[in-house]
Amino acid sequence: MIKIIFKTEVLFLLKFLNLNLEQNKKLALQKQKEHKKFLDSLKKKPPKNLDYLTEEIHEEVFNEVDCLKCANCCKTTGPLYTEKDIERISKHLRMKPADFESKFLKTDEDNDKVLQNLPCFFLTEDNTCSIYEVRPKACREYPHTDRKKIYQINHLMLKNTGICPATFSWVEKMMQKTQK
Ligand code: SF4
Ligand code: SF4
Repeated sequence: MIKIIFKTEVLFLLKFLNLNLEQNKKLALQKQKEHKKFLDSLKKKPPKNLDYLTEEIHEEVFNEVDCLKCANCCKTTGPLYTEKDIERISKHLRMKPADFESKFLKTDEDNDKVLQNLPCFFLTEDNTCSIYEVRPKACREYPHTDRKKIYQINHLMLKNTGICPATFSWVEKMMQKTQK
């Protein structure tokens, strides 16, 4: 019974409150063990049509979630910048790559180039990206919910359930479709 109530609560949140970020974070934490176990099971015994399901659920989720009402990834995590990203974006901004780096980027403990500050400098007040056409590769690919062999990034998916309502919803839907 408790489980049924909880499932109902999850579905309600996904459908009507899917961009209530605090609720999403809380639920993701509550369901972390269950999600981890499920994602591990995808790795141990992936369904034959996993890539197809991944893509199908990705489409479903992003038909329901409006990133412009969220932007939590741009506000709280930010991307890694590759050399190509730096070159492309600095050119777009008519800056020298070295000036771009010293103005916006720092090197983190993993030796990756990341933003100095969050929310991302390029996020506008209406949650659009002011460098959308040339944004970093990592931004274009986030939250990776259309990736082939998705179990290869289980750790990232689990982390993202607490940040990204679309990822939380993706895991819930994949559980429903594969555990019938
Ligand atoms: S990708 Fe996820 S975290 Fe980023 S804006 Fe969309 S729903 Fe929000
Ligand atoms: S570059 Fe654009 S998409 Fe990437 S984090 Fe900044 S605002 Fe978001």
